[in-house]
Amino acid sequence: MKHPKVKFKIDTAKDLRTFRAFVNDSKYDGGRSLRWGIFRKHPSVCRFMNDRKRVDAYIRSIYKKRAGDMAEALEFYRKQWKAKENVFFSLTDKLFPGFFWPKGKYIAYLTIWSMFPRFLEDKTFQIPFRYRRKKYVNVIIAHEMLHFIFYEWFYKQYPRYRQPRYNYFVWNVSEIFNVLIQDSYPWIRTFGMKTMPYPEHKKIIRRIGLAWAESRPVGRLVEDIILKVKKEPALRRFS
Ligand SMILES: [Zn+2]
Repeated sequence: MKHPKVKFKIDTAKDLRTFRAFVNDSKYDGGRSLRWGIFRKHPSVCRFMNDRKRVDAYIRSIYKKRAGDMAEALEFYRKQWKAKENVFFSLTDKLFPGFFWPKGKYIAYLTIWSMFPRFLEDKTFQIPFRYRRKKYVNVIIAHEMLHFIFYEWFYKQYPRYRQPRYNYFVWNVSEIFNVLIQDSYPWIRTFGMKTMPYPEHKKIIRRIGLAWAESRPVGRLVEDIILKVKKEPALRRFS
């Protein structure tokens, strides 16, 4: 099966777009992405967050100051992923037998922010420029890549959930799916670390985790997640 090749790039424009995406998200998430992703490490941005030019200048100044470190980090992450990509794709081939990877750019961009969004529409995503545990960056790459194939597979199985009003629902299902898969034995053996769940998903993960046998086909696991997400009042922001 053909697998996408992840490219690694540095581009300040991506961080500006991500910032705008977090501002936009704040209509739905009460500003959580902004707080977690931006203000925690870059509190000064809060003062001029509505001034696009100043945000752009702020981002550019950091990229300029850290250009050498960023190039070095990018190279490190590229090599680190290369060492694991074959195992990663054999794991996803097993999960989704005969299923093809969707077309897209598959570019990992460095980011100075501390949340790492993915852009499903063009298959690009972000990885941290500085991270305490460098090994974890591979877990992030595996996480975003798993989202890409999962969403493709999911919408083919459940076309009715393509409607935008289900976006939040599908997001919940995909995040829970990722944690259950990435925390399973073959994945931990490959990447050496678990992925980090969103706090609101921990309860469902714990409950399915006990019952989830790795040999179960993905379709059955996903059915189980769907049922539990639908029953969870805290996650019922969809109609
Ligand atoms: Zn995710």
